[in-house]
Amino acid sequence: MSSKELDGKVALVTGGSRGIGRAIAEALADGGARVAVVGRNGERAEAAAAELPGEGHAGFSCDVSDAEQVSVTIAAVEDGIGPVDILVNNAGITRDNLVLRMSSEDFDEVIGANLKGAFNFTKAVARGMMKRRDGAILNISSVVGLTGNAGQANYAASKAGLHGMTKSVAKELASRGVRCNAIAPGFITTDMTDELSEQQIEGLLGQIPLATLGAPADVASAARFLVGPGARYITGQVLVVDGGMVM
Ligand code: NAP
Repeated sequence: MSSKELDGKVALVTGGSRGIGRAIAEALADGGARVAVVGRNGERAEAAAAELPGEGHAGFSCDVSDAEQVSVTIAAVEDGIGPVDILVNNAGITRDNLVLRMSSEDFDEVIGANLKGAFNFTKAVARGMMKRRDGAILNISSVVGLTGNAGQANYAASKAGLHGMTKSVAKELASRGVRCNAIAPGFITTDMTDELSEQQIEGLLGQIPLATLGAPADVASAARFLVGPGARYITGQVLVVDGGMVM
């Protein structure tokens, strides 16, 4: 069998059981990594892990917003698969509403899953990566973290927060050989965008120079590059994958 660029690496993908995360898990497995798939629904995470190409993958039930669950999960991943070389903070949720109508709970829940979740996992793997002087962290944000979006104050704040965290972590860990980048996807067809009406999709297509919605695989190929050896000199960057919508 020919060698692949991620052979021998252990990757952990939060929200790897569906949508963009699942496509990223597939791309990293295809690159030779053993992948830990993390989601709140453990059965779905295990089922997704079982369908990945190659061997040595496993699924784990964990709510990323809960620091205690995150440490237990990291210990289980290290025991079962090995120390994490590649972390992809992809798990995310929306609770959209206009700011005047947004509940405090909906604000906290989105920040908890999208921003605190990435902090929890980054903190849990950073020490090991620094000791081994090798590691790649990738945060999946969103173009609305750059532009803002009416009805998404909580979500846009969480994604803009991820950009600040990405650059800070990149600066803190660079001297130990650990890189941290972000991908800001535009509109990608997944469960999250299934709720859009035909009319909304038509409106969106008019704003996208490449005139099509993206597929999870479009984000996954960029992710595979950014966590791999081809990106060894890239850190602290936000790569927009959106068909040219925001430039
Ligand atoms: P999705 O289809 O709704 O999947 C979300 C994934 O995250 C699922 O695997 C879900 O599994 C997991 N998850 C959600 N909350 C979690 C939590 N608290 N703890 C652990 N796992 C959790 O979403 P997607 O569209 O693929 O989006 C993936 C990421 O890309 C998100 O961060 C999203 O904000 C970002 N993004 C998406 C788009 C888009 O157009 N789709 C655009 C820009 C950015 P469980 O339900 O089992 O927990």
